[in-house]
Amino acid sequence: MKLTVWTYEAPPHVGAMRVATAMEGVHYVLHAPQGDTYADLLFTMIERRDHRPPVTYTTFQARDLGADTAEIFKDAAREAYERFDPELMLVGASCTAELIQDDPGGLAKALNLPVPVVPLELPSYQRKENWGAAETFLQLVRALARPREGARDPDAQPSCNILGPTALGFRHRDDLEEIRRLLARIGVRVNAVAPLTARARDIARLGEADFNVVMYPEIAGPVARHLERVCRQPFTKTVPIGVNATREFITEIGALSGLDVADVLAEGAGRLPWWSRSVDSNYLTGKRVFVFGDATHAIAAARIAAEELGFEVVGLGTYSRELAREVRAQAERLGLEALITDDHLEVEDAITALAPELVLGTQMERHIAKRLGIACAVISAPVHVQDFPARYSPQMGFEGANVVFDTFVHPLVMGLEEHLLAMFRDDFEFNDSAVPSHLASEHAVARPEPAPAVAEAAAPASAADTAVLERPAEAGVGWTPEAEKELGKIPFFVRGKARRNTERFAQERGLASITVETIYDAKAHFSR
Ligand code: SF4
Repeated sequence: MKLTVWTYEAPPHVGAMRVATAMEGVHYVLHAPQGDTYADLLFTMIERRDHRPPVTYTTFQARDLGADTAEIFKDAAREAYERFDPELMLVGASCTAELIQDDPGGLAKALNLPVPVVPLELPSYQRKENWGAAETFLQLVRALARPREGARDPDAQPSCNILGPTALGFRHRDDLEEIRRLLARIGVRVNAVAPLTARARDIARLGEADFNVVMYPEIAGPVARHLERVCRQPFTKTVPIGVNATREFITEIGALSGLDVADVLAEGAGRLPWWSRSVDSNYLTGKRVFVFGDATHAIAAARIAAEELGFEVVGLGTYSRELAREVRAQAERLGLEALITDDHLEVEDAITALAPELVLGTQMERHIAKRLGIACAVISAPVHVQDFPARYSPQMGFEGANVVFDTFVHPLVMGLEEHLLAMFRDDFEFNDSAVPSHLASEHAVARPEPAPAVAEAAAPASAADTAVLERPAEAGVGWTPEAEKELGKIPFFVRGKARRNTERFAQERGLASITVETIYDAKAHFSR
């Protein structure tokens, strides 16, 4: 296992914990050294779960290595069963425990516990967290799920399973709500959801559904392919993140269920399409964006950015090696070469070289973007505690598209803001070294002395001062009525400054009067 300060994915046993923690009535006995209990913090501190993961660590120490660590494992498994009374147990080893070769599966079998025990072989030195979650889910399904007995009732309402949401997933809980709502609106019954909220008996009856909905291919892909083979269940291929993908997903559900989805499609698409057309075009159009994350979110973010927001995607990549092919295909559609790496330094180099205006990435890219002074939004795990917001914020479905719009667009400087920032960049309040105005009193000493002319223009905005700023020029340059009207459209708090700049511009050019064109010429001049 590669040791690094930062890493995109934890070892595979954390993936197993994500599945165990998502489910009900499951307990995971993990043969692990004392330090591995840190993993609990991911769930209790980052995700803010209200209970710790259902995991018993054997917590062997260095001095135990010369003694019988197999006995330590057996004691821990027996005690965990007696204490937690689970319906199902998972057993496995973390990286260090792998090296002592105790075989948790065989040891647990020897205990003859009266519940199903699923042994997990998760090679920590070759694989990582998402693979660990996918493999754990697959082992559970292999052990418990069976094909439907008997023929399907032709009059029964079409049904599906929802596969993929786990604990510690990026907005998984909220995405699940959106998917449930969409399926209910279409008229599809949900047979089971797994792993999130599932009990062992839910996994056992996965085979009863007509088809599967795959929310996150990283986690549910292998299970969906297994169920297709064993239970003849087709599965969805579109991840409904973004308006276009949600519409495709609804169409796919229609084809899989045999239900008419025309009404659901006709109902509208949330606010994203109008929102993205409603703003000043230079605010969004052509913004150069770099996208990096897990495959599900990176593919979706790149598609939304290019198709629905008019951004120019200049870089796309993932750390999800298992889904590199899918990310490469999306990059190719955008005329790019995908960056497939789990080395954050390589990602940093790519961002530095491309110099995008916006980074859509993980918590790692947030750090990188901050250092480089680039706007950034987090779109994928690994995440910070603040990426588990208290409010409802799905990524999937039409409501998810609204959330995604806000997420992508809010870090950017708006069109009007952009012009104003350029126009007033020499102003005492807006120049690069000026402290934020709300900190002015505490940082009064740090504020640079304004030049006399600027200081005069920056007098406090009392009613009298505002009146002065609103007065026509005394310098002899007159304003046409149309120009005055146009000036009136500028927000009051910058109108005085715009008037002064325009008059200075006109004076310097010897113009007799200020027209609408003069205002825009001045604006273009000061924006340069
Ligand atoms: S066993 Fe693996 S995850 Fe645990 S502390 Fe050692 S290297 Fe880290």
